[in-house]
Amino acid sequence: MDPEKLKADALKMAPSWNAFYSRNRKRLEKMDLEVHALHEKWSQHIDCLSCGSCCRSLGPRLTDKDVERLAKALRMKPAAVEAAYLRVDEDDDLVFNSMPCPFLGSDNYCSVYESRPKACREYPHTDRKRFYQIYKLSVKNAETCPIVYEVLNELSLKVC
Ligand code: SF4
Ligand code: SF4
Repeated sequence: MDPEKLKADALKMAPSWNAFYSRNRKRLEKMDLEVHALHEKWSQHIDCLSCGSCCRSLGPRLTDKDVERLAKALRMKPAAVEAAYLRVDEDDDLVFNSMPCPFLGSDNYCSVYESRPKACREYPHTDRKRFYQIYKLSVKNAETCPIVYEVLNELSLKVC
């Protein structure tokens, strides 16, 4: 999977996906089941371990609970986890201090998988309730995540 090609393809598709949203805004409110079925389908087709794009380029926003969970897994104090791995970004959010994520292995495995932040568990969000609320964000996420790209692509072909 070529990340540059995915990004270029997603940018090319964005105007038609956004037009689809404008035409079907109300309809999308009732389409969670269809979107979730597409999420299942494409999550099975696309192997995250041969991708790793989100862990390489998008940083999750961490909550205090996330830090506590990581601290427990790493057998460190939360403050030590913050000092070693985290920083506060320009929006005042707690994020990893380097990208690719410091916990991403060269084999794309997450070394803190069982204790990974909530945002990592929920990415790429195509299985969340009220998907229409994050449709626009998903158009952006499709630049990084092939699952999101395929879900949006098939969704827009399904409904036209
Ligand atoms: S904590 Fe794990 S799942 Fe989250 S970005 Fe890092 S490597 Fe990826
Ligand atoms: S970008 Fe999408 S396909 Fe790639 S590892 Fe992340 S969730 Fe999986």
